This record gives sequence, structure tokens and C-alpha cells, in this order.
Amino acid sequence: MTDEPLGAGMEEPANRNGAFPRLDDDQLARLRAAGRVRAVEPGEVLFREGEAGYDFFAVESGAIAIVQGYGRENHVVAVHGPHRFLGEIGLLKGEAAYVTAVVRDAGEIVQVAPGRMKELFIADEALSNLVLQAYLARRSILIELEVGEKLIGSRYSRDARRLRQFLDRNRRPYHWMDLEEDEDAEALLRALAIEPADTPVVIVRDQVLRNPSTAEVASALGVGARGAPPAMCDLVIVGGGPAGLAAALYGASEGLDTQAIDAVAFGGQAGTSMSIQNYLGFPTGIPGSELADRAAIQARRLGARLVVPAEAVGLASDDGHHSIQLASGDVINGRTLIVATGARYRRLDLPELERYESAGVYYAATEMEARFCADAPVVIVGGGNSAGQAAVSLSRRAASCQILIRGGDLGKSMSRYLVDEIERHERIEVLTHREVTELKGDDALAAVVVRDRRTGEHAELEARALFVFIGASPHTDWLRGHVAMDDHGFVLTGRDVEVPDGSERPFFLETSRLGIFAVGDVHSGSIKRVASAVGEGSMAVRLVHQRLAA
Ligand SMILES: Cc1cc2nc3c(=O)[nH]c(=O)nc-3n(C[C@H](O)[C@H](O)[C@H](O)COP(=O)(O)OP(=O)(O)OC[C@H]3O[C@@H](n4cnc5c(N)ncnc54)[C@H](O)[C@@H]3O)c2cc1C
Repeated sequence: MTDEPLGAGMEEPANRNGAFPRLDDDQLARLRAAGRVRAVEPGEVLFREGEAGYDFFAVESGAIAIVQGYGRENHVVAVHGPHRFLGEIGLLKGEAAYVTAVVRDAGEIVQVAPGRMKELFIADEALSNLVLQAYLARRSILIELEVGEKLIGSRYSRDARRLRQFLDRNRRPYHWMDLEEDEDAEALLRALAIEPADTPVVIVRDQVLRNPSTAEVASALGVGARGAPPAMCDLVIVGGGPAGLAAALYGASEGLDTQAIDAVAFGGQAGTSMSIQNYLGFPTGIPGSELADRAAIQARRLGARLVVPAEAVGLASDDGHHSIQLASGDVINGRTLIVATGARYRRLDLPELERYESAGVYYAATEMEARFCADAPVVIVGGGNSAGQAAVSLSRRAASCQILIRGGDLGKSMSRYLVDEIERHERIEVLTHREVTELKGDDALAAVVVRDRRTGEHAELEARALFVFIGASPHTDWLRGHVAMDDHGFVLTGRDVEVPDGSERPFFLETSRLGIFAVGDVHSGSIKRVASAVGEGSMAVRLVHQRLAA
């Protein structure tokens, strides 16, 4: 045993990507005015792993150690000295802390309550930008370090995949232990007397959750603040992609009592994009996850309630209000409803597809999938922008990347900037007039058989992963029978809705049921871009006002 304080002798981290800036004297003075200054002694805990709603701390003098597993493994992640501040993005999202802050060297700290911090951010744009950038960058570092809860399971398990998707899409740092290749994973299960059949297992601090539901994990982690909604909201938004987030932000900022829910995570499909290159104002692109985090924080700051995971499974409309039934059994009532549930990618019509869906066939190319196919051959099906973006980002790690399209010209369906980039890239090859006829492999995908549509010849392509981007089907099962839809299940809005003579016409973006609007990818004829989803989400709020007034 040693009496040395945690993090003794450890240097402060460098200011990588703006993660660890120093506050200047003026900024510290403004924080002092908003909070209180107090002396601290070594060993004092400022906030604890698992604590939600903790205060903002800046260091005047002395040093604070940031510790994972305080009192257990005591792993020191960083040390902060004078003019540095504590916390990461979870503080602004109201999530529980997953590290503990312990005073290493005696000194003075400035402590500011979350409510006062919110006011200060609104008044002080430069400080707010500095903290936000640092918090976003710190979250990325923590994700890389795999600090946080442990998830033990098999890469081939659907439940493990469901939990990984939830953690990844909510940008939670966690340590993934794959039973297929990590001997420590098995040893840990044995130590906990857990049978492999009870996996996946999530270990959050001292809680061990055996094949938990997504809601159980969210509650253990303090992700997505819940709290009962009021008996009747002005506006309920179902779906938290760019369209739903924009609607939440505008709804709350324009004085509507606004509640937004999402089944998995705020950010939607856009949140899974490694880099959105065509969103106005970001000339070098912006990672989808960062856009989602920024938008969710902004919407919450303006007063929207964002709840996750909350899946809508049914709807009842009655006399000017709408009741949304959730998978949990809860009901949310709203005077108006904005449907922003987006769409999911179509699947290939192959009998063996399902077998490989947890073992090499993917519908999104996020960091998680990119890691699986490092240094391996990859095949992508589809000729749209999503396929193009996946090819460009995956080819940074994959050994090779082949894009299969049914037609003869990639430029017909893909933006020019992506086609140009693909043509310049030496590890990406485009195979035209091809379709996949078979998937091959033992436990996991190893090859795909493709047919040349002109000659009928078959060829086998080596593939550790197959990415499928062949169009989308809308998330509208829960709305069937309530609003008019097109033949593919996308929601009809505005002029596309057929109205009996003499009946009131729906507004633009309004569905066949007055007071229910549909925005973004879920509505018939949508553009399927982040910018258009954001535009429609914002516009719909103006129409909601008109409907409420009418
Ligand atoms: C990998 C990838 C990269 C992309 N890159 C770009 C790009 O660079 N530029 C661009 O302009 N577009 C891009 N797109 C397209 C763009 O992301 C979408 O057009 C946009 O996200 C649509 O927004 P949305 O809000 O309508 O729906 P979505 O983003 O699909 O969000 C819908 C949300 O609703 C939730 N949901 C679904 N059903 C329910 C339910 N029953 N209850 C509660 N919640 C539910 C989902 O969990 C999801 O979060 C990309 C798409 C992908 C997949």
C-alpha cells in the first residue's frame, strides 16, 4: 500500500483537438462570479462515477485527478491543473458521470451549479464554444480509450449487436470484450459465475446486467433523462434524427411545450455518418455524431425534453389530441404530432442473408464496422451517396473496396464530388452491371458471388464485409391505418393527400390526419438529405402554430 495520492507525478494531458484548453483570467473571473470559490484538500471527491447532474468545476490552484473505477482499479485517466476545467459532454446532456474527480494536490476550485452554467453559456458565447469543443473532443478520447462500462458478448449475437448499436449511437465510451477472441472475456464470465448463454453482459460499476433490455442499460447508465411528461404536450415529436431534432429545437424555442422521443439515440441516420460533407456551413465536413450532439444540446438548452430509448408502437387520435403508445407501455399525449421516424435500408433478397446479418452484412458504415474490416476486403452494393460515402471512409482501413451497381454509370445516382473521389482512389473499384446472387462463408461472411447482368457470368469476390445501400423502407408500421401512405409505406403530406370535396385540406407537410405532420425521410417524395430533413423539421413548427391557432 502507498499513501501517494492518485495520479502522483502524472503530467497534464496536451491540448489535443482542443480537448484540454486553459481558461484565461477573464474567463475564470466570470466563472467565479457565477459560482463559488472554495479550498479543497487531497482525497476530496468532487463528483463520482454514476452521479447525474454534477456541478461544473474549474481549477484555480492545486490539481484534480480524473479516475476510472475509483476505489477499485483506480485507473487515472487525466490530471487537471490551474486554469483547466473538469467534465465532458455528458455534463451538458444531463448524463451520469462515468469517472470520478478526486483532488490530488490541495488548492482552490471554482464550483458552478448546472443551472448557472447554462445561463453563463447563453451570455458568454466564447466560453460556451471553448467548453463545448473541449467536451466533444474529450468524449472522442474517452471512446478511443474504451473507458466506461464493459460489454461482454459474441460478435455473432443479435443482442450484443443491439446493445453495441445503442452504446455506439449514443456515443458512450465502453470496453467491448468479444467472446470469440478475447480470453479475458471468458475468464471474467467465469469469475462472475455467468454462463455464456446468459450473455451479452453489461457491467456498469458494481451492477452486472445479464442480457439486459436497452432501457435497462440506459437507466443504469443515466443516458437520456426520463421524467414523466406533462398530461398534454403542445407538440410531440417521434424520431430524433436531423428532422426531429430541428423540430424539437424550433418547437421549444418558439414557446411550445415540446417532447421528442427516439427508439435508439438522437442523431438518426445522420448520426452514423462518419463525415457529412454537404451540410451548409461546414466546409471541411462534420462528423454526424458531432452534429447530433451539438443539436441535442442546443434543443435541450432551449427547453425541449429529449427522451431515449422510447419507441412508438401505436397511435390513437381523438378530438384534437394524439396519444402515442410506447413499447414500454407508457403513453405520451400531444395536441400536435410531428412524425420524423426516417427510414431503414432495404435488404437483399437472398435466403442466406439473415445468417450473415450479424456476421458480415451491414447497413451502415460507422466506426464500429470500419474496425471489423480493417485490412480486409470489403464489397459495397448500391450506387447512391450513402454507398459512395461508405466506400470513401471504409477504404481508409480496408484492404480493398469494390462497389457493385446494377446500372452502367455511377454518376447517375451519386453526387459528382463522391464519384470524383472514388475515381481518384486507388483502393476503390467500381463493378458495373453486377448483382449479388449468393453469400458464402462458415461462421462469418468470406465471399460474395456476383452475376454480370449483361453476360450472365458468375464470379466470386473475397469479402469480410458486405455493405448494403439499396434504398430505404420507412419506419411507419406504428402509423398504419392512421394516416394515408404511398405504396411503399411513406407518409403522404400536403397536396399529395386526397381529400373528399368540401373537407379541409392539410397544410404543407401535414398528413391526412390534421394536426399530425411528417418530416424528413419518412414522408413520401422526401429528398433524403440532412439539410432537407432539418429544413422540414424547422418549417413544420410554423405550421404546427397555424394548426393550433386554427
Ligand atoms: C451512413 C449514412 C451517411 C449519410 N450521409 C449523408 C450526408 O453526408 N449528407 C446528407 O445530406 N445525407 C446523408 N445521409 C442521409 C441522411 O442521414 C438522412 O437523409 C437523414 O438522416 C434523414 O433524417 P430524418 O430525421 O428524416 O430520419 P433519420 O435520420 O432516419 O432519423 C429517424 C429516427 O427515428 C427513430 N425512430 C424510428 N422509428 C421510431 C419509432 N417507432 N419510435 C421512436 N423513434 C423511432 C430512429 O431511431 C432514428 O433515430 C446519410 C445516411 C447514412 C445512413
